[in-house]
Amino acid sequence: MRNIDIFLREKGIKPSYQRKRIYEFLHQNPIHPTVNDIYWALIHDIPTLSKATVYNTMNLFNEHGLIDIIPIEGNESRFDLHPIKPHAHFKCDACHQVFDVEIEIPPHLISKELAGCQVETQNINFTGVCSACMEAKNSKVI
Ligand SMILES: [Zn+2]
Ligand SMILES: [Zn+2]
Repeated sequence: MRNIDIFLREKGIKPSYQRKRIYEFLHQNPIHPTVNDIYWALIHDIPTLSKATVYNTMNLFNEHGLIDIIPIEGNESRFDLHPIKPHAHFKCDACHQVFDVEIEIPPHLISKELAGCQVETQNINFTGVCSACMEAKNSKVI
């Protein structure tokens, strides 16, 4: 917790207890949670937490470059701690978790279409059923 304290201060964010707990949760749960996921995970520990606080905290983290809002289908925004390197996402339609996928497209494969362009972001999304859900599904079949 002390490290998160220092880290948030360095990023220009006042490290309130709730902000620290939310940041810690994001760190420990790299499943790209929604505001609802974060709220329900922390409400037992922090009874004073509100969804508005979670929402505002995520916006604050986003403004200060701590997280990215990932562009993946769905009604709710999902969050990623600011990625160290670009990666793709895989959304499981069964458990609704979003996993990171390590992917790197060699520049020579895309350079033809993007020649002369300045690429700022790269978003690749996969959807389907994750391996844990596949196993659960298969074990039900007799
Ligand atoms: Zn799944
Ligand atoms: Zn991610």
